[in-house]
Amino acid sequence: MASAIVLSASGGVYDVELEDGTVTEASLRGRLKLQQRTGDRVVAGDIVGVESQSDGSLTIESVESRTSQLARRAPGRGRNAKVMVANIDRVIIVFAAREPQPNRRLLDRFLVLVEANRLDPLIVLNKIDQADDDFADTFLAPYEAVGYETLRTSVTAAVGVDALRAKMCNARSVVTGPSGVGKSSLLNSVQPGLGLRIGEVSASVNKGQHTTVSSRLIPLECGGYVADTPGLRELGLWGIQPEELPDCFPEFTDLIGTCRFARSCSHTHEPGCAVRSAVDSGAIDRERFASYLTLREEAEGAPQY
Ligand code: GDP
Ligand code: ZN
Repeated sequence: MASAIVLSASGGVYDVELEDGTVTEASLRGRLKLQQRTGDRVVAGDIVGVESQSDGSLTIESVESRTSQLARRAPGRGRNAKVMVANIDRVIIVFAAREPQPNRRLLDRFLVLVEANRLDPLIVLNKIDQADDDFADTFLAPYEAVGYETLRTSVTAAVGVDALRAKMCNARSVVTGPSGVGKSSLLNSVQPGLGLRIGEVSASVNKGQHTTVSSRLIPLECGGYVADTPGLRELGLWGIQPEELPDCFPEFTDLIGTCRFARSCSHTHEPGCAVRSAVDSGAIDRERFASYLTLREEAEGAPQY
């Protein structure tokens, strides 16, 4: 059996890339089809075993267990997570220094989704030609203090693009962020035409031409893949439960056990809360904590199934 990676999966048709780089269509073996119905779907990024049939067609015979996945959780009773893409190494979150102005609440929301999926984020601040260094440093400092990796880029001034390319080669990345921050421009600088290929799907999503657009992986010339995951742009909380939220803020991790009510502390109002003391002393960034409170309220208010 040969090994292949699934580039896209939609409507029962699977585009797979074989180890020699050939891209071809494959279909699912009956047993795997059954698993699809129970919710355990084969998605872009899955590593599969394929076999050629006598009629020349290719079938997917097995699926390797995933090292990671990006999934929307459906809470409660036997409902499965909707996996958008599998085996991702890194989520690249792009914001602009200006036009549009970066929004920390929104960045924290992206980071929570990444943390909830136990993936590694890379925060890119693009258009740094539009702002002075102080602005970029001030904006990124709280994230660097938490230990997040950051990159300052400018497409127009050709700053940081080589560094971004180096991060993307030989890795499987998801690129996300608000519109207008320069995602397509950055991808085009990493590899000519790449931003366009990703843009095509986004444009059709905006026009409402497809109701459910699944993810695609695009092979990079330098090795590695970039995933287009249209669903990532709908920034709900993805079924993240209120009590999971503190674990999505790495700067809380060491403190959670020392709150008076330990893991049952919501860090919103309880006495003896180590997280809120850390906010008061300046050890935890006030804006990050404000994002936590906003997201907590949202998660508490979300319908529980
Ligand atoms: P996307 O919606 O995130 O894909 O953003 P685009 O790549 O379409 O870029 C939005 C606008 O920002 C375009 O007009 C780009 O030319 C511009 N842009 C992208 N990167 C930079 C940059 O580094 N500096 C400046 N000044 N403009 C940029
Ligand atoms: Zn607490």
